[in-house]
Amino acid sequence: MLRTHNNGELRLAHVNQTVTLCGWVQRTRDKGGMIWIDLRDRYGITQLMLEEGKTPKEVLDLARTFGREFVISATGVVVERLSKNDKIATGDIEIRVSEISILNPAKLPPFLIEDDTDGGDDLRMKYRYLDLRRNPVRANLQLRHQVARFTRDYLDNQDFIEVETPVLIKSTPEGARDFVVPSRMNPGEFYALPQSPQTFKQLLMVSGFDRYYQIVKCFRDEDLRADRQPEFTQIDCEMSFIEQEDVLNMFEGLIRHLFTKVKGMDLGEVSRMTYAHAMKYYGSDKPDIRFDMKFVELKSEEVDLVSDKDFAVFDAANTVVGINAKGCAEYTRKQVDELTEFVKRPQIGAKGLIYFRYNNDGTLKSSVDKFYSEEDLKKWAEAFGAEKGDLILILPGDGDKVRKQLNELRLEMGNRLGLRDPKKYAAHWVIDFPLLEYGEEEDRWFAMHHPFTSPKPEDIQYLESGDLGKIRANAYDLVINGVEVGGGSIRIFQKDLQAKMFEVLGFSDEEAKHQFGFLMDAFEYGAPPHGGLAFGFDRLCSLFGGSDSIRDFIAFPKNNSGRDVMIDSPSTIDDKQLNELKIRTVV
Ligand code: ASP
Repeated sequence: MLRTHNNGELRLAHVNQTVTLCGWVQRTRDKGGMIWIDLRDRYGITQLMLEEGKTPKEVLDLARTFGREFVISATGVVVERLSKNDKIATGDIEIRVSEISILNPAKLPPFLIEDDTDGGDDLRMKYRYLDLRRNPVRANLQLRHQVARFTRDYLDNQDFIEVETPVLIKSTPEGARDFVVPSRMNPGEFYALPQSPQTFKQLLMVSGFDRYYQIVKCFRDEDLRADRQPEFTQIDCEMSFIEQEDVLNMFEGLIRHLFTKVKGMDLGEVSRMTYAHAMKYYGSDKPDIRFDMKFVELKSEEVDLVSDKDFAVFDAANTVVGINAKGCAEYTRKQVDELTEFVKRPQIGAKGLIYFRYNNDGTLKSSVDKFYSEEDLKKWAEAFGAEKGDLILILPGDGDKVRKQLNELRLEMGNRLGLRDPKKYAAHWVIDFPLLEYGEEEDRWFAMHHPFTSPKPEDIQYLESGDLGKIRANAYDLVINGVEVGGGSIRIFQKDLQAKMFEVLGFSDEEAKHQFGFLMDAFEYGAPPHGGLAFGFDRLCSLFGGSDSIRDFIAFPKNNSGRDVMIDSPSTIDDKQLNELKIRTVV
């Protein structure tokens, strides 16, 4: 070893020992008679001290040549510091250096390697290996390591075994776009990278593995966002001879375990909510339930407190729904205008915002006073459980579409009112998802989860009757703080039902056989009932780390255009490679 200790290790108990340390020069302070060097490594910082008259001259001279990030080695005696630094673990001691050497000089880094750096995003991504030297980034990867380790512990204790599945697989038409890889040995043919190991884990169940997991890379060629990367990691799991309840309990257990071990806290109750409830009261299949602010309907299939008062907007809408922003009656005109602009943004798409205030003096004042009397507004206020001081925000529109718009406003109000505290965690399962959703544009039905998800037995009748929108699935998502951290389902394990499912999704027999023949064949050789789920590992890490961006928790992430700017990928390949692959490019 080139060192006796690391830079986070030495304490008063080591005083008088001769030690050798290695690391990077964080900074040097040269006060003429004295030189101090902060020496950094992954474990911390230790202060080196050199003194005119006491330290050999050649050592002092060499130290004066050090720049930031030089890699050096220093030997000396541990001494107690005169002025201690309680901000670092080694702050009680310093090293009186007697020998020093440069292991490797360094160019001046393009940004400060400090917790608060002056480097912008792009620069830090280009020099990610330098960014990773910074404490907060390194801490994120350490957290990631912990989450992986405790996941493996838990699953190992529950008899799960980790099995690797292939990365070069076959392109499938469902789900997101595939990344494909040309096959040199099979010209004109392509592998696809897995969007998830879904079919393989099901085959492992047919093989009798019974409890499988894998911390595994998945690849999806989608447009990117802060919480999406083209390659990401899942904790992928599957179990046999179970029902939905067993899966929920097993993986609620995993999440609890992670909260205890990683965050040192009890997760509290993990509640359950049906998809129908989530959409009706929150306009989202992943509601953030750290705060209440449930939707109240003024007009829907069940109520109507607004029609026939000559207000055409409400008359035309099939749904009028709102939220109670408690204590916001005193919002200024400007603040309300901001909210109106917010909901009118193209990403949200509402036409306008209607509101009423329950003023502190007991009066009710709405933006539609022209059409509605105080009496009408009183009925609304009652429906909202409004009290003096509340501001009610209302959107008119069309069913789930307007509910989704109101969801955005609810989250925005949650942010404005400080109700989305990143230190608070609220977890719940969303269950009973619809099996299928209708794609207006494509004019066909899609699997809401994936085509291997089983319908609820009592809803299978609707597969026959063609009432496809009514079929509920044995599918579930785990949501924490409004983030979908995982999801899965009980699977179809009978060949005929799987074939029926493909038919409903518009596959011809041929196509189904071509794409998924292997799975349907397998179902004929004794497939056990099975189900499972997958957690988004990067998302879980970012949640534990209190950040919205999964990129911060990935060692070498891609940017928003799917590029790795450090290695400059993707890139063109030369003609020789293309010829070998029998590929001609047209751009
Ligand atoms: N394979 C699914 C996914 O990637 C998860 C599952 O159903 O287990 O979303």
